[in-house]
Amino acid sequence: MIAWNSTPVPELDGTQSDITLFDTALQEGTVLERHPERSLYVCGITPYDATHLGHAATYVAFDLLNRTWRDAGSTVSYVQNVTDVDDPLLERATATGVDWRDLATEQIALFREDMEALNVLPPDHYVGAVEAVEWIVPAVEDLMSRGLAYTVPGEGGDPDGDVYFSLDAAALLDEDDDARWFLGQVSHLDADAMVVLSAERGGDPARPHKRNALDPLLWRVARPAEPNWPGATLGDGRPGWHIECAVIAHRYLPAPFTVQGGGSDLVFPHHEMSASHAWASSGSPLAQHYAHAGMVGYDGGKMSKSRGNLVLVSKLRRAGVDPAAIRVAILAHHYRSDWSWTDAVLEEAVARLATWRSAAALADRADVARLLAQVREHLADDLDAPSALAAIDAWAAGIHGDGSGRQEFADLADALLGVRL
Ligand code: ZN
Repeated sequence: MIAWNSTPVPELDGTQSDITLFDTALQEGTVLERHPERSLYVCGITPYDATHLGHAATYVAFDLLNRTWRDAGSTVSYVQNVTDVDDPLLERATATGVDWRDLATEQIALFREDMEALNVLPPDHYVGAVEAVEWIVPAVEDLMSRGLAYTVPGEGGDPDGDVYFSLDAAALLDEDDDARWFLGQVSHLDADAMVVLSAERGGDPARPHKRNALDPLLWRVARPAEPNWPGATLGDGRPGWHIECAVIAHRYLPAPFTVQGGGSDLVFPHHEMSASHAWASSGSPLAQHYAHAGMVGYDGGKMSKSRGNLVLVSKLRRAGVDPAAIRVAILAHHYRSDWSWTDAVLEEAVARLATWRSAAALADRADVARLLAQVREHLADDLDAPSALAAIDAWAAGIHGDGSGRQEFADLADALLGVRL
């Protein structure tokens, strides 16, 4: 699948230092020492309701990591998937009377336009679940052949043959080992909390005949009126969500890759289960680190289609909002915090951007060099964009230079924050 376009990232003087990043699995900040090669996998959208502010905040958060690594001199291999066939997409297509392929195509196109407008650097590989089916099938067959997956008999309208991953069998693999994988490694949740979240987030803990209620689906055999693909010995069907990401990541990135990213609603079950699949398939952890972006609400409540309050980037753009202001509004909140989109948040960002643009004309080269060091320091501290923005505000408030640093300031804002002045 084609990603989107980007403009070249300006070169800056000097370089970033070691970066501290909060690791969800370690439950603390961890120092990522400078390294020539970094790899990043950020879970992509299921293409309906794209691109709401929650999506935008997640991809901007990991774009900040991507830019910070590049500023530290690293080459970054970046992969993102698109879950272009899954229950929520099919349900939305049915509910709106649209062919699921048309819905996916339209929403992916919107997402690409939004990402480009928000100056999010594109992934090197942008891969759809449909494209990955041919790699997922042998991965699931391998797990079956090794006793790490099993089929469930049909009941209550479900046909025979859906394939599930056995968490208990995977745990046994580790018995003689140094606990390289265990359930809860990423999320640190207890079993009861896992069952609740599994039911809320696409799992089926109540499905009869599963060995463990939390066992995730690997392959869903064909149902009437659902799309399906050849599954060799598995039978025709379509893949589960967690194995999709584990297989795509393994195909394009090192094992383990540096950072698995996504919204905090992906910690469990998605990242926990993808990690279990990757470990069972390859004997390597999925990722060295797990990082998660907070959730974005609307006016103090939840933002959701059912509440009719989704704020879409495309709608804001059509209303004439400068995408750079949307980006500044997102960066004004720490990526790990949960926050709420309001009209005031956008108004503040528009005003801030205008101040920065005015200040650029009076930028002094030596002052901008000092500002660059400050912004780098804040970003190295768990991507603390709000403090970086505050440093720029303070610089702009005292501006009285000769304009000699105008280009340097624009380059700083673009290269490190992705904000085009
Ligand atoms: Zn994923």
